[in-house]
Amino acid sequence: MKLVDHFQYGLNSPICLTWELTYACNLACVHCLSSSGRRDPRELSTAEAKSVIDELQRMQVFYVNIGGGEPTVRPDFWELLDYAVTHDVGVKFSTNGIKLDKARAAQLAATDYVDVQISLDGATAEVNDHIRGPGSYATAVRALENLAEAGFGQPKISVVMTRQNVDQLDEFKAIADKYGAQLRITRLRPSGRGADVWDELHPTSTQQRQLYDWLVARGDGVLTGDSFFHLSAYGEALPGLNLCGAGRVVCLIDPVGDVYACPFAIHDNFLAGNVRSPGGFQEVWQNSELFTELRQPQTGGACRSCGFYDSCQGGCMAAKFFTGLPLDGPDPECVRGFGEEALAARDGSTTIPRSEVDHSRSAPRNSRGPVPVTIGRRPDKACETSPLVGVADDASDSRLRVPVAGS
Ligand code: SF4
Ligand code: SF4
Repeated sequence: MKLVDHFQYGLNSPICLTWELTYACNLACVHCLSSSGRRDPRELSTAEAKSVIDELQRMQVFYVNIGGGEPTVRPDFWELLDYAVTHDVGVKFSTNGIKLDKARAAQLAATDYVDVQISLDGATAEVNDHIRGPGSYATAVRALENLAEAGFGQPKISVVMTRQNVDQLDEFKAIADKYGAQLRITRLRPSGRGADVWDELHPTSTQQRQLYDWLVARGDGVLTGDSFFHLSAYGEALPGLNLCGAGRVVCLIDPVGDVYACPFAIHDNFLAGNVRSPGGFQEVWQNSELFTELRQPQTGGACRSCGFYDSCQGGCMAAKFFTGLPLDGPDPECVRGFGEEALAARDGSTTIPRSEVDHSRSAPRNSRGPVPVTIGRRPDKACETSPLVGVADDASDSRLRVPVAGS
């Protein structure tokens, strides 16, 4: 069996585990995938978080991606970080930089098995702050300066690609080089508050091509979190596993201990269990019904007939789900244009699922009430020219939320 086949059928431990420590955040980014803002009173206590780390150590999970919300605003963040690294669980944490002053930067530079990822969504303050809020560019740059001054080896600059920043790829690379950092670019998904802005912010089809060409020409040493594998259908496959790892090699533990198939799939349909249940995280990862189902061989559905299926695999499950497209059809950003057709073909009867998990500090988004979910609709036959045959349609719901200043 090839290595990638092992990944298809799942592993005893996740290789890409994201753990969001808190829903609290000092910012209110318009595209926040977890709709963070306010802390949830049910969040795991320090003792509970430590026992999750103990379990990860027993499962030989060698590192976790810590995020939030803004994880460093949790008062016990530094204690948990130390606990993890002294229990053989390396930490890569994502931060907007708010707490990375000179002293913390020096502390991090002296700690092994810790990696830092600073979020920056514009190579200029104008572009970044439009997404992440006023002052957030300056905060991120200050954190990068502090890390460089402390001699921290190669932090990451993490960029969510949007319509406004695709043209800035070279500038992002220059910023990374300036601070001795490594550039990481990821895909904007319509998850959390990202669903509200996806129509306006996701790169156009021309920009998808521009992004792919840039990665092929200049992407050496640029990390992507394997998030652009749908673009491999343009030609040469991009480096990575080129598959949706949800529930197979990827999962999320959220701040209240709920375990989801993927950080971009915070929705009841992708909720596998909770670390507080008997058997803890290990039981959820190894035996939950949802993850067992996700590890079954995929049919490929309508995409199976596409000549690019081997590299594209039909794209991202979360992107399809939160745009109301069938999970076994093409990605909304399908490079052959079938995703755009499917989006345009949605109609009033199409249900666009929303997450009910929302800790935004602005008015509760779900005040409209939960929307019932309909998924799994299949085109009635495979088609050589369009995998959308048989799929119903409509116009998209377009709401751009105005950025809110961080506190
Ligand atoms: S749902 Fe999308 S983001 Fe999540 S693992 Fe699959 S491809 Fe990646
Ligand atoms: S039709 Fe499906 S497999 Fe083919 S490029 Fe589009 S999303 Fe990928």
